[in-house]
Amino acid sequence: MIYFDNAATTPMDENVIEVMTSIMKSEYGNPSALYSTGRTARMIINESRETIAHDIGACPEEIIFTSGGTESDNSVINMIQNIGTPGKSNVVISRIEHHAILKPAVLLQQKGYEVRYVNVDQDGIVDINDLLKKIDEHTLLVSVMLANNEIGTIQPIQSICTLVREKNPSTYIQTDAVQAIGHMHVNVKELGVDYMSASAHKFNGPKGVGFLYVRKGSYVPSFALGGGQEFGFRSGTENVAGIKGMSVALKNNVDKLFSNTQKISSVVEYIINELDKEKVNYVVNGSKEKRLIGNLNISVNNADGEGLLHLMDLRGISISTGSACNSQKKEPSHVLMAIGCDENRMDGAIRISVGKNNVIDEAKILVDVIKDYTRLIQ
Ligand code: PLP
Repeated sequence: MIYFDNAATTPMDENVIEVMTSIMKSEYGNPSALYSTGRTARMIINESRETIAHDIGACPEEIIFTSGGTESDNSVINMIQNIGTPGKSNVVISRIEHHAILKPAVLLQQKGYEVRYVNVDQDGIVDINDLLKKIDEHTLLVSVMLANNEIGTIQPIQSICTLVREKNPSTYIQTDAVQAIGHMHVNVKELGVDYMSASAHKFNGPKGVGFLYVRKGSYVPSFALGGGQEFGFRSGTENVAGIKGMSVALKNNVDKLFSNTQKISSVVEYIINELDKEKVNYVVNGSKEKRLIGNLNISVNNADGEGLLHLMDLRGISISTGSACNSQKKEPSHVLMAIGCDENRMDGAIRISVGKNNVIDEAKILVDVIKDYTRLIQ
């Protein structure tokens, strides 16, 4: 099996599997219990929180563990109902956010809050003038993702934070960094955001666990009520093995960011060079410069992306046509639409997402399939 769908999910690192297995076997105590196995589980959580906080430039008490990106994203959008006034307050979000932001925003709208959508340019970069025009004294939240899951475009979050605060210093700023964390340098203090979402399975950790960074002093959404875990904001017995696995996975990726980036770039560059050499008629979707290193979203002229995906599958290769979370549906991608792709370009779009475990030999096979496919449709 050749796996080129690392934006959908990533294989877990060996040492992550080992540490999780050992915790599940031996450290099964409830972290809220007062006896020693409980205390050990609590210690594992505390140490993991410290490691994760350190890796993103945060303080440990600014990290709230969640079940993943969707919960973290949803919670921040939903908190507007706790602090806003229907018919008066508004939130400003980019058109290319993940559905974990867009869908709760639709619910907000139904409850009487105004949702203002910000345009992006043809590379998928947020139009800053449009963003600033949409902010006023009633804007409670701005939500712009750090890196897009479909086209990989990286947003200038740092300048967005500065400009938004100049316009309205009390507006909260959220960024969905699910695709970015573990794949590029991410430091919350440098970015300047109030909220940041992360998900372990996107950086070689386990599925079903993630975190929300909440800047000290920012309003903390209440996720779930019950036993008072996670500083009282997100009740529920913690996923001890998952949390530890996430901290080990993040550390692995942060420590090896430079070498992983070089390795991934060489595979992506190989694919691009070979497609160009073979004169495959394609375009890159999204920014060529400001993109996640492993994300290669291309549209092959006159192709059916899904047909190409199935041909790849027959040859043992996993890729995606759109984002993983909506790949079951045949709706056109809202991201490709937002960057102005026509139907032909949307139909022919595939997302090849390269990870740290991919090698050039796999890329050779992938390019061969694309070559065969383009011959078929000629
Ligand atoms: N946000 C982005 C940008 C994503 O790519 C994803 C998953 O594809 C999510 C949120 C949802 O994360 P999770 O799968 O952890 O719920």
